[in-house]
Amino acid sequence: MKITVADNSGVCFGVRRAFSLLEDAVKNAKNSGMNVFMLGPLIHNPRVITQYAEKGVNVIDINSIQENSCVVIRSHGITKDERAQLDRFSGITLIDTTCPYVQRIHQLVEQRSSEGFAVLIMGDREHSEVRGITSKISGDFFVIHPTEFDAKSGELASFIETHDKIFAVAQTTSRPANYDFLLKKVRKSIGSAPGRRFVAAETICTATLKRQDSAGELAKKVDAMVVIGGKNSSNTSKLFQVVSEKNKNSFWVESPEDFTKADIEILQKSDSVGITAGASTPDEQIEEMKSFLGLLNG
Ligand code: SF4
Repeated sequence: MKITVADNSGVCFGVRRAFSLLEDAVKNAKNSGMNVFMLGPLIHNPRVITQYAEKGVNVIDINSIQENSCVVIRSHGITKDERAQLDRFSGITLIDTTCPYVQRIHQLVEQRSSEGFAVLIMGDREHSEVRGITSKISGDFFVIHPTEFDAKSGELASFIETHDKIFAVAQTTSRPANYDFLLKKVRKSIGSAPGRRFVAAETICTATLKRQDSAGELAKKVDAMVVIGGKNSSNTSKLFQVVSEKNKNSFWVESPEDFTKADIEILQKSDSVGITAGASTPDEQIEEMKSFLGLLNG
C-alpha cells in the first residue's frame, strides 16, 4: 500500500498560533500559580481538548469563570456579549487566540453595518465563529447555510428585496463553489436597480482553500482516502465533502479506532491510500494514521 499525505494537511496558521499562545499561558500560569481555562473548546478536536484536560487545562463556560485565573479565548472567537461579560471580571488574565482571519470578518461586518448595510452571511448559524460574527452586526442580517439554499430561498428573496444595501461574507471554512453560487443568485436578484448596492467580501480562509484543493487532487489519484479530524470540526466536514465527491472510498475518522471492520477491509484491498487532515489536527495524529495504515500492509 502506497500512503500519501496531501499537501497542506493538518494544523493551519490560526490553530498553530492558538496552540502557541495556550502553551505560553500554561507556562506563565505555572510560575504564578494560576489555573488556566479554555472558554469553550480552543479548537474542534476532541482528542486535543482531552489531552489538555489531562494537563489540568479544562473547558469552562462564561458562568463558571473563577477570579485570579487565566482564561483563553478560542480560535473561532466569542460574541460581543461574552466579551463584555469577560471585561467585567477583575483579576483574570485574558489570552485571546481568535484567528486574525476571523477578526477581519468581525471588523468588516462591524464597519459595513455601521454604514447601513444589511449583512448576508453564508455559514452555520450554530457555529461559534458565525455567532461571533453576527454579534458584531448593528443592523439587520440573514444567515444561510448551503444546505438551505432551496428551503430558505423565499426568506433569502425577501431579505434581498427589503434591503437596498447588502454586504456578504462567508464563514472562513466555506466551500468557494457554494459562496460563488450564492453571490451570483444575489447579484441576479438585485439586478441593476438604481440606488441598490451589493458588496461581497472574500472571507474564505486561504488555509481552507489550499487544504481542500490538495485533498481533492489526491482523492482522484488514490484507491481510498482518509480524512482525520474532529467530528465537530466545520473545516474537516468540508474537506470530507470534497474528497468523498471524488473518491467513493473516503473515510472520516478522529483516530484509527474509529474504522469499522468493513472500512478496514476496503483499506486492506487498496494499493494506494491518501491522507488529509483538518486544520485542528496535530502532526502526531497524522503520523499515528500513517503508522496504522502501514501496519495493514503486513
Ligand atoms: S482554518 Fe483559517 S480561519 Fe480557521 S483558524 Fe485556521 S487559519 Fe484561521
